[in-house]
Amino acid sequence: MEEWISIGYLLSAALFIFGLKKLGHPKTAPFGNQLGALGMLVAVVTTVISMQVQGNANWELIIAGLVVGSLIGYWLAVRVEMTGMPELVAMFNGFGGAASALVALSEVQKYMDGGDIPTGLQLTVTMVAAGLSALVGWMTLTGSLLAMYKLKGGVEIFGKWIRTPTWGPTWLNPVKVLLFLSVLVMIYLSIEEPTNETYLWGIIGVSCLLGLVLVLPIGGADMPVVVSLLNSLSGIAAAFTGFIIGNSVLIIAGSLVGASGLILTFIMCKAMNRTLLDVLFKSFGGNGEKQTLTRTKVGSDADEVAMMLDGAQKVIIVPGYGMAVSQCQHQVKEFADLMREKFGTEIKYAIHPVAGRMPGHMNVLLAEANVPYEQLIEMDEINSEFPDCDVALVIGANDTTNPAARTDEGPLAGMPIINADAARTVVIIKRSLSVGYAGVDNDLFYMDKTMMLFGDGKVMMSGLNTAVKEI
Ligand code: NDP
Repeated sequence: MEEWISIGYLLSAALFIFGLKKLGHPKTAPFGNQLGALGMLVAVVTTVISMQVQGNANWELIIAGLVVGSLIGYWLAVRVEMTGMPELVAMFNGFGGAASALVALSEVQKYMDGGDIPTGLQLTVTMVAAGLSALVGWMTLTGSLLAMYKLKGGVEIFGKWIRTPTWGPTWLNPVKVLLFLSVLVMIYLSIEEPTNETYLWGIIGVSCLLGLVLVLPIGGADMPVVVSLLNSLSGIAAAFTGFIIGNSVLIIAGSLVGASGLILTFIMCKAMNRTLLDVLFKSFGGNGEKQTLTRTKVGSDADEVAMMLDGAQKVIIVPGYGMAVSQCQHQVKEFADLMREKFGTEIKYAIHPVAGRMPGHMNVLLAEANVPYEQLIEMDEINSEFPDCDVALVIGANDTTNPAARTDEGPLAGMPIINADAARTVVIIKRSLSVGYAGVDNDLFYMDKTMMLFGDGKVMMSGLNTAVKEI
């Protein structure tokens, strides 16, 4: 039987790895997701069988947990709006971290309840792994819940204080270091006294606090980095817990999440032109204030824009968060098809790595509308093409096109942007002149060559398509 259990774990690990590989391309990603889910099912069933063999299974409870968890997961997944995905992902990260930390806690709790305490190296390894699992797991829970509220734009009770807090980094940084060191000291002391509950609850309490103070000063355009880092941490917590309970598949799955999350974190840092240490300790998030708008701009209408588009040879579409909010990706695809058919226009899509509210947000939406993947061009590659482009059509993008990022000041400082301002004409679809996520006014709106189409993305794109058809 032992061999079958090992084979079960091996199979689920292989499913995780193949699933991850398939997630690398939008076309194969849904299948990758299903492989991952199947891997998780195989892992749970194998664990139940393994516990049965060892004679300590309470399989009814585990199956009940599986059913309740699956139902809640299904309900959340079908209910969530595309714009609510980042918050859902942040919440999943937090719960993943907490689940791992709870398993670690239950193992150590056994010692308090009079269970056999290992000695020597085994005790050291268990207590260090349990302490690190608690540190990372509880920190991930509180940090993720705070990140979730920040992504939501703050809740009433906390308001802007939570969204982009004004807490200065100068005195908060030593506090973070102090809290971190105090957890390490408590882990060390818990090896000396494994039955002392004070250390256990101390580690949990301080770790929760650490999660909050780490995420508190981060805001604005740096949120994608935090979300992917928390995702990575939830995996690392699972891997530590795998060591404590001797479960190989938990170590493998946790390491996969930890490593891939870390890679994504560094990709996001590169996209923002920041180091991870800068994000964690320099608080680029701004002071929480949204810039007050003092300028005005007269809007254009769909007919005027359609006339200008007549005969355009090259149009680059720049999608942003507003496309996700208005769900106008199908109208955008229709526009591209129309322009190609009517004028033989070359159409490309410029994809900024942090456009929208989650990594790959624009790719997912455009893939849903069957936009060929080859037409989605990464920012670094497409930026040089804007000077040769007749029209940059910006749909609900703001921060990712804001020239203020080219200066040394403000929450966007240093972030590479899509060079839409280099196109011959710029058309921007959004409801008003208001600021984007980072709260910074955008000079692009006020340029002479910019035409603003004020209104909801879907309504404006439908109107534009009708106007182009009528030319
Ligand atoms: P922004 O958030 O900068 O701007 C989006 C714009 O969309 C708004 O200015 C808004 O203007 C407009 N908009 C909203 N609803 C609609 C609608 N129904 N129709 C038309 N327009 C609409 O978006 P970007 O994609 O340019 O930048 C993303 C920002 O989010 C970056 O700062 C990034 O760092 C941050 N972020 C990204 C994450 C990620 O993983 N990708 C995660 C967390 C944050 P108006 O109200 O006038 O319509």
